[in-house]
Amino acid sequence: MKQASAFNRQPIKIRTRFKKSLFLAVLGILSASGLIWQQHVTQAVAAEQNQVATSSTWQSASFPVENFQAYSSPFGYRRSATGGSGWEFHRGLDFAAPQGSYIRNWWSGKVVKVSDRTACGTHIVVQSGDWEHTYCHMKGHVEAQSGNRYFIDREGGIQIWEGQYINSGVRIGRVGMTGRTTGPHLHWGLKYANNYVDPALVLRAMYAQQSGRTLQSSAKLP
Ligand SMILES: [Zn+2]
Repeated sequence: MKQASAFNRQPIKIRTRFKKSLFLAVLGILSASGLIWQQHVTQAVAAEQNQVATSSTWQSASFPVENFQAYSSPFGYRRSATGGSGWEFHRGLDFAAPQGSYIRNWWSGKVVKVSDRTACGTHIVVQSGDWEHTYCHMKGHVEAQSGNRYFIDREGGIQIWEGQYINSGVRIGRVGMTGRTTGPHLHWGLKYANNYVDPALVLRAMYAQQSGRTLQSSAKLP
């Protein structure tokens, strides 16, 4: 009997130990990749701040959404947002806002992509120098005319052509629920020199520079 219970206990011990080391390994990977991301972000923001020192571009950057309610999901690792059991890297910042709230272009640039029916839903991508900003889950859809694609939100009075230039602060769409989402929000993705950057860092840098004036609907930054 003694032997039997010892037998029974051993696999449990091994399992526990295995679980523990697996947990530590995962933790190691998470923190290592966290460091790498952090490094990218620091470099990107540092590079941008150098540029800003001479051109002051943050001054004209716009907060990307009207009727802002809350930051509903930060940049980084999280449990699957739509109920799955796995982990995923959330490559952007989520802004909760009522359906139909207008989205504003963060920084003047060229619309390099309009698309729909993806996980990102109806979305547009704007290129501003080394920066690329993506706006997901918008209302509306994409149409084409003589081979030229455009995003259309008729009810919101918005039409954006692929290839068009847009100034910062201009309304470019409305918060919707297209794509993979459980509630109305704007998913805002930012890339610098092709690397994802935590948008919260950019908002903080903007806020620091613009502190003389009020950033629209954003009393509290993440
Ligand atoms: Zn998101």
